[in-house]
Amino acid sequence: ESFHDVDMGEIIMGNITLSRYTRPTPVQKHAIPIIKSKRDLMACAQTGSGKTAAFLLPVLSQIYTDGPGDALQQYPLSLILAPTRELALQIYDEARKVAYRSRVRPCVVYGGADIGQQIRDLERGCHLLVATPGRLVDMMERGKIGLDYCNYLVLDEADRMLDMGFEPQIRRIVEQDTMPPKGIRQTMMFSATFPKEIQILARDFLEDYIFLAV
Ligand code: AMP
Repeated sequence: ESFHDVDMGEIIMGNITLSRYTRPTPVQKHAIPIIKSKRDLMACAQTGSGKTAAFLLPVLSQIYTDGPGDALQQYPLSLILAPTRELALQIYDEARKVAYRSRVRPCVVYGGADIGQQIRDLERGCHLLVATPGRLVDMMERGKIGLDYCNYLVLDEADRMLDMGFEPQIRRIVEQDTMPPKGIRQTMMFSATFPKEIQILARDFLEDYIFLAV
């Protein structure tokens, strides 16, 4: 079992080695081939399972091998939604490691921090955006984010986002007219638990998805 079972491009593979990840964790072993095969995914996985790299590696490698082109202002190719500033920053840090030297540019936005600075960072171009739902809705309302080209969508810790009351914001984001519809975009949901509310969200956001529990 190794990361070399799936080709993720030389630079990303090199960054996996730089991160000292020698063997994929169980969620990585199963989720990476599913995501690379372009299927939607509902994964039940706990914090500490390596779930962040399980979605970042295949998504970033796809953007990289497709040829990222110039990072477009306001129009990320990929969106990761996370419940808290802490988690968003952790995902962003890992994204920067995975994307090192790849020309794929990650950005992060979250509430409780200066929005002007985050807008200026986005204006430098963004391929992959990590965001908390409230701040992203704020950015959308100011016309600073367009999701027209967002072909990869990840909801991380979906159960926690619902517990925190973010369902209206999440639906605002995912169900807006400019977001590519399900079946066109690829959508991945990660959650520690799989209660009724998450099943409904999976039914609404995912197309013909694979269910994975590790
Ligand atoms: P996560 O569950 O995504 O929060 O990851 C938990 C921790 O495991 C993070 O510090 C990662 O950097 C680390 N990690 C993720 N995948 C691997 C791997 N394949 N080998 C070693 N460490 C890893």
